[in-house]
Amino acid sequence: SDWKTHYSPMSQIPPPHAEFLPNRTLANAVIVILCRNSELQALRRSIREFEDRFNRKYGYPYVFLNDVPFTQEFKEIISNLTYANATFGLIPQEMWGWPPWVEQKTALRCMQNLQTQGVLYGGSLSYRHMCRFNSGFFYKHPLLLGYDWYWRVEPGVKFFCDLDYDPFLFMQKNNKTYGFNIILHEIRATIPSLYQHTLKFAESANLTTRLLRFFGEPSKGWVGYNLCHFWSNFEIASMSLWRNPTYEAYFDYLDHTGNFFYERWGDAPIHTLALGLMANKSEIHFFNDIGYKHDSFAHCVDDEASGLNRRCMCPSDHKNFDTDAGSCLQDWLAYREEGYQWDFPPNN
Ligand code: GDP
Ligand code: MN
Repeated sequence: SDWKTHYSPMSQIPPPHAEFLPNRTLANAVIVILCRNSELQALRRSIREFEDRFNRKYGYPYVFLNDVPFTQEFKEIISNLTYANATFGLIPQEMWGWPPWVEQKTALRCMQNLQTQGVLYGGSLSYRHMCRFNSGFFYKHPLLLGYDWYWRVEPGVKFFCDLDYDPFLFMQKNNKTYGFNIILHEIRATIPSLYQHTLKFAESANLTTRLLRFFGEPSKGWVGYNLCHFWSNFEIASMSLWRNPTYEAYFDYLDHTGNFFYERWGDAPIHTLALGLMANKSEIHFFNDIGYKHDSFAHCVDDEASGLNRRCMCPSDHKNFDTDAGSCLQDWLAYREEGYQWDFPPNN
């Protein structure tokens, strides 16, 4: 067919997935994007790349979530970028706001304090609601309840390579539950008590963990925590990780400390430590073949050096965060989980 060689208005062009495999078997998966109306242009660029590099061949549906209603303009411009289903949802108030047990005055004082120290998002309340939502609620949103798998995408992120296979089916087939792209050190001032609370929870819930040992040396207390976390702006994961009684109890325990507000806990270190509590290393997949950038950190794939030929474009500065001192990737790759069986109380 020669339709691609001529300019023609959208209405005359067949949906692009008709061009590939029309009878694909898809996973029960969704692309999840939490965003604001003001991020329209940044999101437009990201979805354009996401579609061109991957989803136009698959047609996975999108769910966009917002704490305020999306504008008509936003919905039209975004849904025009894809032939896949796009649904725009509002977050219920009980998933985005102050829980009743948090002392708001105290929290505001803590926020001001962190702000003064120059901690990133230290003074932001909306950021805290966002982190709490991503930690304990997104997978319970009515629009996401029917799905087993998700890929989290954010406005402004870049995708540098073609993805010629279905990452959800790959995960399913290989018994993976969590896929990441960048792993790095968290800012310590945002989570001063998270590690200790995690150990306390693990002990009280009588959990036998293996992977938690990668993230720290419990006998050294909170300075034993290496602050490594999977960067949650990119996640390809099973919803079942969060929809289970252990994670439910963990989130509930953390939430009741109030430290989403008194401190500034991110959803990334929480997801990561939860994996430490519940998962084995073999269930976690590093998507090495997905070139990706969020803010100024990129995982870049060199077509020739990798031998992968994924038709990648690296950022023009060719900076690859993987070998940066801020990255935990080399430690992660070198980690041999089998050597570190750890029961409670710590028996080292
Ligand atoms: P960072 O990645 O930690 O720097 O934080 P971002 O500002 O990128 O926020 C993470 C994600 O949450 C992005 O997808 C944002 O669009 C979204 N987000 C952050 N704050 C809000 C908010 O107040 N409302 C909505 N609707 N989305 C938000
Ligand atoms: Mn972001």
